[in-house]
Amino acid sequence: MGLYDMARRVNAVRKAYLKKQAGKVLSPVRRIERVFPPKSGRYVAMTFDDGPDALTVEGRDRGLTDIILEELSKYDAHVTFDVIGTTDGNYPDEKGADGTFMWSGNAFDHYPCFGMDKLGGAMNRPELIGRILEAGHEISNHGTTHTLFGKMRAVYGARHHLETLSQVVKELQGLHQYMLQEFGYRMRLGRPAHYIDKIPDGSSAYDAYRVMGYNYMAASFDGAGWQPLPSYSEEVSAMVEPMRKALREDPECLNGRIIFQKDGCNMARRTPIADALPQQLQILAEYGYKVISVSDLLDMSPFEDLSPDAPQMAAIKDLLGREHTVGYKNNTYAPDRPITTDEIYIMLAKPEVLRAERPMGPRELCAAAMKNVGLDITGTSGNELLAVLDRAGAGTDALRLSLRDKRAVTRLEAAPFIASLSRALES
Ligand SMILES: [Zn+2]
Repeated sequence: MGLYDMARRVNAVRKAYLKKQAGKVLSPVRRIERVFPPKSGRYVAMTFDDGPDALTVEGRDRGLTDIILEELSKYDAHVTFDVIGTTDGNYPDEKGADGTFMWSGNAFDHYPCFGMDKLGGAMNRPELIGRILEAGHEISNHGTTHTLFGKMRAVYGARHHLETLSQVVKELQGLHQYMLQEFGYRMRLGRPAHYIDKIPDGSSAYDAYRVMGYNYMAASFDGAGWQPLPSYSEEVSAMVEPMRKALREDPECLNGRIIFQKDGCNMARRTPIADALPQQLQILAEYGYKVISVSDLLDMSPFEDLSPDAPQMAAIKDLLGREHTVGYKNNTYAPDRPITTDEIYIMLAKPEVLRAERPMGPRELCAAAMKNVGLDITGTSGNELLAVLDRAGAGTDALRLSLRDKRAVTRLEAAPFIASLSRALES
């Protein structure tokens, strides 16, 4: 086994471990990679990073976002545009080398290209944002300036980065406020520039998204629009063929997944997405896929490990709709796990309490939630809890039964009880 393979395997083990750890504490911010495949049909979400972009595509006199919008409309696809505010404040800088990770600048990223920043970003291209919204697409927050949340030594060692949670929150709020004020549009999802999560002051992207009331938008299938190859046509086919092959092997494989795409240049400063997207959309249509936004996918199926057809789903969606914290950081729900008192507090807590602008570990999260709920059930026996339920008019048959049998109540069984109890406490 070569060194590269070994490093890759070690990294895969590390990632699996981290993902498992992330499934232990309820989190107001869930990292969404994929969801439990809907049974009602085949659905895949698409996300387009780094736009909007008016950079003219070679051989055509139109901008890239314009071309993408037209292709999507042919399939009635409503997707997620993961936009930036503007990168034209990212000077002084030096131009990076094409074909490398620094293609768009040395100390900062410059979208769409070095020296052409006025062609890109929501704040420079409000007309494109208007068209994206008018066509029924979703917009998510990829940062006001696409500045890294923290250090990344491996690839972007020379990059300027932010130092503190409040700087990162400010970086997100710039674009958030712009979208609210100019378009009356509230964003609900964010993806960090280059997926860098660790903020040097010890906090993380999860803290920043918690403050913003966002979920963390990841992806689970790479559209490969970033990849530089010797020629444009090779780049286009590198974006199309892996998808064709994956679907040929397993037509279900993209159901419930999120595809990563670029509304911008690849590292060779070309835009193969312009020619790859029509082919990708054609293939997806052949396999019966409907291409949708991440929020639409989450509305359909919120968690990775819980079927959207579970009878308790209405209660879970009720809680989610009121922005309560119900799932784990890795977007699992763990339906069969016994629920703990701490978890009941966190699920009952009003969302704004968990949005304080300071880093919060699991213990603080629970303490803040408990203080907020105004109901002390610590150490309550089954019978006492039943009395609480009766007073709140919030009992459910499954819960009553398990309290009487003194068996552990699962997280799934508890959901309807928590949903009605939270409504009773809030009224
Ligand atoms: Zn980006």
